Amino acid sequence: DLCIYLFRHDLRIADLPGLAAAAQVGRILPVFILDDDTLGENTPGGASRWWLHHSLAALSADITATGGRLVLQRGDTARCLQRLVAQTGAAAVYCSRGYAPHEVALEKALHAALTEAGVDFKRFPGTLLFEPEAIANQAGQPFKVFSPFWRHCLRGDHPAQPLVQPQQWPWVPDIGRSDDLDSWNLLPRNPDWAAEWHELWTPGTAGARERLAHFLDDGVSRYADGRDRPAEYATSRLSAHLHFGEISPREVWHRARQRVAQKPALESQVDKFLSEIGWREFSNHLLFHFPTIPREPFKAQFAGFPWLGGKSLLQAWQRGQTGYPVVDAGMRELWQTGYMHNRMRMVTASFLTKHLLIHWREGERWFWDTLVDADLAANACSWQWAAGSGADAAPYFRIFNPVTQGQKFDTEGEYVRRWVPELARLPDRYLHRPWEAPAPVLAEAGVVLGDHYPAPVVDHREAREAALAAYQQIRSG
Ligand code: FAD
Repeated sequence: DLCIYLFRHDLRIADLPGLAAAAQVGRILPVFILDDDTLGENTPGGASRWWLHHSLAALSADITATGGRLVLQRGDTARCLQRLVAQTGAAAVYCSRGYAPHEVALEKALHAALTEAGVDFKRFPGTLLFEPEAIANQAGQPFKVFSPFWRHCLRGDHPAQPLVQPQQWPWVPDIGRSDDLDSWNLLPRNPDWAAEWHELWTPGTAGARERLAHFLDDGVSRYADGRDRPAEYATSRLSAHLHFGEISPREVWHRARQRVAQKPALESQVDKFLSEIGWREFSNHLLFHFPTIPREPFKAQFAGFPWLGGKSLLQAWQRGQTGYPVVDAGMRELWQTGYMHNRMRMVTASFLTKHLLIHWREGERWFWDTLVDADLAANACSWQWAAGSGADAAPYFRIFNPVTQGQKFDTEGEYVRRWVPELARLPDRYLHRPWEAPAPVLAEAGVVLGDHYPAPVVDHREAREAALAAYQQIRSG
């Protein structure tokens, strides 16, 4: 029998339960369908499309190297699959399950259409360590706070070992028409803003494994502190690889645990790292149980929050021209590399929602378009967290001060100097607050505020007061 394997957010052939099950059916036809219409506003943004192109090229090469050929089709997923079933006589269609509402809806529709046509449609785990149905509190409800969630996950059975890679996959040798990947135009042109990204990123399983190995050799020993210092390369940078499913989270889990077995002193650092993988689990579970998270505030009282419009302020934020060096450094890192350090994501998101009082969905959309790791669950949950409306958000009055955040986490100013070079010659003392530098200091550093670099678009103290007043409005109803 022939089984179509539909690749989704699982662009790998290693440790993929659905693919292993497909191999039990008989021969496998590997397929990826680009279905922008069904995705609607969840269509990948520009940076993700760049990654997707290269990730598909890598997957395709991995399949070719093992004797098969990845079939690429563009259009409505159900219709493409029905056509392929008719052409090949496939008896089954298998895939990994998704957790976002549009993915769940697609699986339901595929189940109905394919079952009616006599085709066996099955979905398998493969994206998470723990399935949402398996994790609930004592009342049988989903957790809404991270710490008890993760404690509960760790208490139960730990993730199974990754599947052993078969010697040979029973791919269908060559069948069906496939689009040419280049014809999908996923890559930017005129201008090609990603021209240098190959130096930064290697999409695909081999790149993911290399990244993980490098992290476990080096960054992990500094992780617990280093993860807060944006100038350091102390985090794994696995987020896009995990988002696209190029490496399974349980492979990450077991490799990290193996490292501890080799070097027990790393245990607390590795545990911290795995708890961040836990945040990935948590946000996916939240999205599964509360599918409105990308659109509506998790805390209902925020529905009436008095957001301001502020197109020019939004633009200043997007372009890294707010006059707060650390915020601008983060936004420029994002624009230039498709990535921003987690601490800076927290600071820039807080700045947009609390200092500028601009709706978190504007920020979420910008990140969606510019991050290579843009992920509906992580992005929406994190934005809501930053805005104060999230499931596990910190108390609203904890408003990040962009100056002290810079002084604390970029003390020597390496990060700001890297991304805001026009301030590079300012002494550390004034780097995070150039507007307070005496005129001779500015002159010496070659900085003219309002010319080379903007004066702050808002005053921190006034902005903080305004945010607290806005919050007071929804509190008092
Ligand atoms: P590491 O520190 O090495 O962490 C390991 C892995 O854990 C990451 O690769 C990621 O898969 C996961 N992870 C870490 N932190 C989180 C988190 N808070 N929530 C969910 N998963 C997490 N992450 C995304 O993957 N996609 C997004 O679209 C995204 N948007 C964000 C938006 C905002 C406003 C904020 C504050 C955070 C966002 N994050 C997002 C979470 C986090 O910033 C990134 O996952 C992390 O910076 C990626 O770098 P890393 O792989 O080196 O992380």
